[in-house]
Amino acid sequence: MRTLLRGGTVVTATDQLRADVLVEDRRILALQQDLEATADQEFDVSGTLVLPGLVDSHTHLAMPTMGTVTADDFASGTEAAAAGGTTTIIDFALQTDGSLRRGLAAWEERADGMAHIDYGFHLAITEATPDAIAEMADVVADGVTSFKIFMAFKGSFMADDEQLLRVLRRTRETGGLVQVHAENGDAIEVNITEALARGETSPFAHATTRPTSTEQEATARAVHLARWAKRPIFVVHVSSADAAREIQAARDEGVPVYGETCTHYLTLTEDELARPGFEGAKYVCSPPLRSHADHEVLWSALRQRALQICTTDHCPFTFCGQKQLGEDDFSKIPNGLPTIEHRLPLLFQHGVRAGRLSVSDLVAVASTNPARMFGLERKGAIAPGFDADIVVLDPEKSLTINAQAQHMAVDYTPFEGWECRGAAALVFSRGELIFDGTEVLSQPGRGEYVPRSFGDFGPGEITRL
Ligand SMILES: [Zn+2]
Repeated sequence: MRTLLRGGTVVTATDQLRADVLVEDRRILALQQDLEATADQEFDVSGTLVLPGLVDSHTHLAMPTMGTVTADDFASGTEAAAAGGTTTIIDFALQTDGSLRRGLAAWEERADGMAHIDYGFHLAITEATPDAIAEMADVVADGVTSFKIFMAFKGSFMADDEQLLRVLRRTRETGGLVQVHAENGDAIEVNITEALARGETSPFAHATTRPTSTEQEATARAVHLARWAKRPIFVVHVSSADAAREIQAARDEGVPVYGETCTHYLTLTEDELARPGFEGAKYVCSPPLRSHADHEVLWSALRQRALQICTTDHCPFTFCGQKQLGEDDFSKIPNGLPTIEHRLPLLFQHGVRAGRLSVSDLVAVASTNPARMFGLERKGAIAPGFDADIVVLDPEKSLTINAQAQHMAVDYTPFEGWECRGAAALVFSRGELIFDGTEVLSQPGRGEYVPRSFGDFGPGEITRL
């Protein structure tokens, strides 16, 4: 089966070129201006931008947390991803019953027969026991080449510095990249207890109990621990200028520190948490939303590659029933936002159209960099031999984000009514048209598990960028 995309502008992480793209079965076969070839199907994509399918390396589908489970399973979550031009996700499996292997098995089962698009897993280590540390090699052998440690959420996910250091050191033997959720969980716990004692129970207290300094301090500490371990580290969901500057400063010294931010930290502010009634709960995520000044620093960090990736940290909960668990106590509001579907139009509108990113920057931070850094060897580029994961972006297509029209299984969107110009017109996954601009055409179960290589993060000491 051959498919030809004619007349578009192919965008890579570094430049743009007018080229037709020829796909054979699962792979990209050729890429050339005025390509002379025949195909079983042809699409006229003139006037559009042809991008590699987006990679979302930070999602939480069907994840048990805070007494509930995230609202999207692997079917609805990946269907929404497909509609938004994302063709690969890396979801966070959690250590389960003390075991990394059991955690991986549990997530494999959740995804099996459900996913519309390809997927991999990170493994979040919530209790770095000697057994768990030993098992790191087992999951690496199964293609899980990245881990995560939470420096926050005391009493549930949080691991202490000793555990983080041991996990970092272990990757000298196993290879792989350690990611951290960088907030000072002890300080936040004290802040929450005191706020509740003062009678502050509403969603806005979520922001005031997690000031940027709690993120900055944990980020700096993580950098030190990585230095001592002589291993690289990756800071997930950087939300503040203060934390971004810690990463930039370490990188200026050549320390191998990497990081991501997320769509919502580039576009929404903590003012949303002060909405009347309990509406602010719709915007509760950790770290919390920050300020416009933080947005500009984060955009600039992406542009300059101090942060290399923009993910969604999709962690969806319904407002009715789930967010409402915290109606009398903000600390019981499930943390997370439904965002997997709208990264491309938001980055295009508020990044590219606003002059903050080039289209190549968008491709780099939302596709090429996550694919390369997380060892997805056939993803993240439009080049011969790569998987034919392709998004045809119509820069003139209007999209008004609204909960009624979205594919995510939640009853709201934090971007209700936002207008974007530029959205996915066609989405291909391994050569198969899975979104035609209106409907998701694929069935659950067509997505495949993708074992990952080490990328740049093999075993041994790594002390330089
Ligand atoms: Zn997350």
